[in-house]
Amino acid sequence: MKLVKILPFTRVLMDMAVKEGDIAVDATVGNGHDTLYLAERVGEKGHVFGFDIQQEAIASTSARLQEHHLLERVTLFQASHDQLIEKIPDVYHGHIAGAIFNLGYLPGGDKRIVTKPESTIRAIEQLLQIMKKEGIIVLVVYHGHPEGAIERDALLHYVKAMDQQHAHVLKYEFINQKNNPPFILAIEKR
Ligand code: SAM
Repeated sequence: MKLVKILPFTRVLMDMAVKEGDIAVDATVGNGHDTLYLAERVGEKGHVFGFDIQQEAIASTSARLQEHHLLERVTLFQASHDQLIEKIPDVYHGHIAGAIFNLGYLPGGDKRIVTKPESTIRAIEQLLQIMKKEGIIVLVVYHGHPEGAIERDALLHYVKAMDQQHAHVLKYEFINQKNNPPFILAIEKR
């Protein structure tokens, strides 16, 4: 298939937004795959802030970063992403170039612990306040589980109503695949 699949497309979008020396956010670190990718992307002079509510996710991400000798480029918070405005030091506000959310539950973890639309939307609003212009937020929406379908509907409702003077919003989705495959929402701050 020549069309870019969903997960690789998140990287295409993040590559557009995040360059060497930039500040980036992984709003749902999970097992740390995106955190590692962002840490590599921002280089020695950049920094990544990562959030997850589960201790297990913070430990797993921390170990992954350590293995690649990149822990010093990342600050991890065991906290909800809707606390990002208070957790990320003020000096970085206005300088965040990109943020990623992988919604749903931790792969291999407790499937009852899932992202929730209210806190996801609060986190997006906070990011839009503290990101720089042309900063991009990428959300991978998993809607195959019951709470995922609720989160999908709430998010679509929210992003469709965003003022186009303030943000460009993209949906990237394969519309003829079975079993509710994930799709991407991307929001670029204007
Ligand atoms: N990108 C991750 C990776 O590379 O493994 C996968 C992330 S996983 C799909 C979703 C994660 O979101 C889980 O680890 C879960 O604990 C976390 N999460 C759920 N609610 C959260 C919240 N309010 N704030 C931050 N993280 C949250």
